[in-house]
Amino acid sequence: ERGLVWFRTDLRVHDNTALHRAVQACHSIAGVYIACPETWQSHDEGDNLVAFRLACLRELQESLGERNIPLYFLELKRFDQVPEAMAQIARKLEVSAVFANAEYPVNERQRDEAVRQALKQVDIPIEYSTDRTLVPPGAIKTNSGDAYKVFTPFKRAFIDQCGGGDFSPLPAPRKREPADWPSWLQVKAEENLRQTIPATVAGYDAVAQKDGKLLGWEPGEKAGLRRLREFEENIDAYEDERDYPAIDGTSKLSPYLNAGALSVRQCVHMALECNRGRWKGGSEGIDCWLSELIWREFYTHLIVAYPRLCKHKPFKPETEGVPWSGDELAFRRWCKGKTGVPIVDAAMLQLEKTGWMHNRLRMVVASFLTKNLLIDWRWGERYFMNQLIDGDFASNNGGWQWAASTGTDAAPYFRVFNPYSQSEKFDRHGEFIRHFLPQLKKLSDKEVHCPPPTEGYPPPICDVKETRKKAIEAFADLKG
Ligand code: FAD
Repeated sequence: ERGLVWFRTDLRVHDNTALHRAVQACHSIAGVYIACPETWQSHDEGDNLVAFRLACLRELQESLGERNIPLYFLELKRFDQVPEAMAQIARKLEVSAVFANAEYPVNERQRDEAVRQALKQVDIPIEYSTDRTLVPPGAIKTNSGDAYKVFTPFKRAFIDQCGGGDFSPLPAPRKREPADWPSWLQVKAEENLRQTIPATVAGYDAVAQKDGKLLGWEPGEKAGLRRLREFEENIDAYEDERDYPAIDGTSKLSPYLNAGALSVRQCVHMALECNRGRWKGGSEGIDCWLSELIWREFYTHLIVAYPRLCKHKPFKPETEGVPWSGDELAFRRWCKGKTGVPIVDAAMLQLEKTGWMHNRLRMVVASFLTKNLLIDWRWGERYFMNQLIDGDFASNNGGWQWAASTGTDAAPYFRVFNPYSQSEKFDRHGEFIRHFLPQLKKLSDKEVHCPPPTEGYPPPICDVKETRKKAIEAFADLKG
């Protein structure tokens, strides 16, 4: 029996459900990866995200190669070309089945259904496994059979219904006997990937530093596992430290989770082991971190229950009526970290320079854009996706709609972050601000949050109190 594993955002050999299923069912296994740069671009996936993903793919190819599993790399333009290509590859390789892990945004699901149909034409079944989430989206329902719209009851139900499940990671496949795959597969696997990748992504070379890191991030499954072990040492302090951007208090695992270089099960397994099997009522740091992983689960379940979220629609339809400002100049100042509000600017520079932003600051800058500048959350969502090395449609959309008060479990519209008090509270001595805005280095700890006129730094783009009031009025009008 020959099996084909179709890798997508699950670029690892350990704890990969589709790969494991193939190992169980088939004697010989090959992998395939299909890059679709045009579709990726239409999903706003930027260079950082794509370069990180492809660097993880390189490592995956090596790890598979060591196990005598060849990985065929194919570059097409768009998702709509995938079904025919998959059917051809599967038929040429004479495989008896194809294995993949399910993906959940609408276009991915449509593509996967079309692939299922195309393979059916050539009598080859495809099996999609649950792997990106802990349980399949749709598995957690309210008593009346609906999807949850609010996080806290979702979390409670998740822990009640699924918390006792087995989240032990699956083993990586053992080295296999070399199989007689056709030579084109071997050649492609050896060469095509190395040659095609740098050409695929504009800017790949620009972000790939000499030490093999992308904007300071080391790609790949091995680096992801190392980071998980490092974080384990500090997990108990998570709740105390996670809100302070100057402290390295969060796991920084998001790029690995989103490329699939690490699985959410591996994370949960580590945390439960440290927490004596408990989801709550154990170490406060671990309880809190597990809760964040349930947020990730929640947002992914939501996009399946409410496909309009994947179509640029707000969850709350009435918020389509917000009179967004359309001020492109203000938007560009926000993007470039030139709003004159230090915490916002430092955060936007962190994003530009590292491809990542601290969660507290994602909330601050998203609130500032949508409430103080009254700019459409979709502009921010798109810019984030384009810059983030950890971009994930569900979490990014969920985070933006939360901040803009347009989402399911949204911040109430009248609760608007004050960036200055956030700054004083979470970057008290201005360490984070000074790191990204050296022109403010000499200011006192008090002044650094809201500087007096300073050379090389713009005055504030708006009065936060006034704009806050206006935003609240705009949202209140929707209700009336
Ligand atoms: P940790 O604090 O160590 O958390 C561990 C993991 O839990 C994260 O890696 C992530 O997978 C998950 N997680 C944590 N917080 C959240 C959350 N609020 N929602 C969903 N999952 C969460 N996260 C992304 O992975 N991709 C995105 O594109 C993304 N965009 C966001 C946009 C906005 C406006 C906001 C407010 C949040 C966004 N988040 C996104 C969620 C969160 O900011 C990041 O997951 C987190 O900062 C990643 O850092 P970490 O790995 O150190 O997180």
